Amino acid sequence: MQTELKQQVVHFGEGAFTKVAAILDGLSVRSVFLVADEPAYSASGAAEELELLLAERKVERFLGFRPNPRLEDIERGIEQFRSSSPEIVIAIGGGTAMDLAKLIGVLSAQQAGAREIITGRGAIEVDGPPLVVLPTTAGTGSEATHFAVAYIDGRKYSVANPRFLPDYVVIDPRFTHSQPTQIAMASGLDAFCQSVESIWAVGATEESICYASESVRLAIEHLPKCVADPTAKSRAAMCRAAYLSGKAINISKTTASHAISYAMTTRYGTPHGMAVALTLGQMLQFNALVTEADCSDPRGAEHVQARINTLLDLFGQATAAGGAGKIRELMISIGAPVLLREVGIDLDDSVAWIAGQVNAERLGNNPRRISKQEIEEMLKGLL
Ligand SMILES: [Zn+2]
Repeated sequence: MQTELKQQVVHFGEGAFTKVAAILDGLSVRSVFLVADEPAYSASGAAEELELLLAERKVERFLGFRPNPRLEDIERGIEQFRSSSPEIVIAIGGGTAMDLAKLIGVLSAQQAGAREIITGRGAIEVDGPPLVVLPTTAGTGSEATHFAVAYIDGRKYSVANPRFLPDYVVIDPRFTHSQPTQIAMASGLDAFCQSVESIWAVGATEESICYASESVRLAIEHLPKCVADPTAKSRAAMCRAAYLSGKAINISKTTASHAISYAMTTRYGTPHGMAVALTLGQMLQFNALVTEADCSDPRGAEHVQARINTLLDLFGQATAAGGAGKIRELMISIGAPVLLREVGIDLDDSVAWIAGQVNAERLGNNPRRISKQEIEEMLKGLL
């Protein structure tokens, strides 16, 4: 069943930032809850411009949180939000800042506690305040999704609710100019992987495939430049690729490469986009061998094959092996690791552990059924 989502207002382009004033004026907002990723906030130049714009308003700042939203930070944010009762939430930063803003805003308004809601034992029943997001990385696409990631005791939860979809998205590519190379690489890879997986996902629709295809095309053309020698044009293109990847997975969700990656990130600290990309080429080759007997897409193996061909066309390749080669080439061109040992995973036991951590439910969105044993074999091939 398709989730009914509200419409987002999107402002995109150099200087889009000035629209924030019009948004706040339009809603007659006097008080703001600002969730800002401090280093990105100051380095991007956004702080200077935003503080000027907020000077006339009461601003409650939520800063000093760790990467990847954790329950402790979410609860601290909810407490701070409730004691200041602002009218709107503004998030500025990468995926963590945006997800925290979604969780703090919406969860502050609920009866149930944060832990209960995140673990699926409590319900989201009422709207939170309006949310404006300003991404400073070109990657997660969180600005376009109704999902929020949260970690409790090292375990990752993805909470989905239509109320998490930001009301206003302001993408000013200038604010990604300060992205460090490593972030441009990892977040750009995330956008690319999300879009590739989205195309073969069981949850894909004609609409999501349109967004994802355009995103893959943009990433192939602009990611290497955006990492090695960024220009305003390549950064703007990657901002668009990231946003479109969010639009795509907002409908289709992600598949096996994402599911396998989370354990690498929590235990080995592998940046998300890099961890996902490590198995993407293998997964392309695995999914290309789908048959009716192991197909999880109700539309059948032939349909999945057609989706794989859509991807191969985007890669300019005729075979799945060629497609995997193209992915590897892209990763090498931006200096991303292609082997597990490059990210500190070098033992058979570690690989078995990672395979054992994969959430089986998430694998259901992969077009070809895959067992933990097959995942382990695949990872061993990447040691
Ligand atoms: Zn991702």
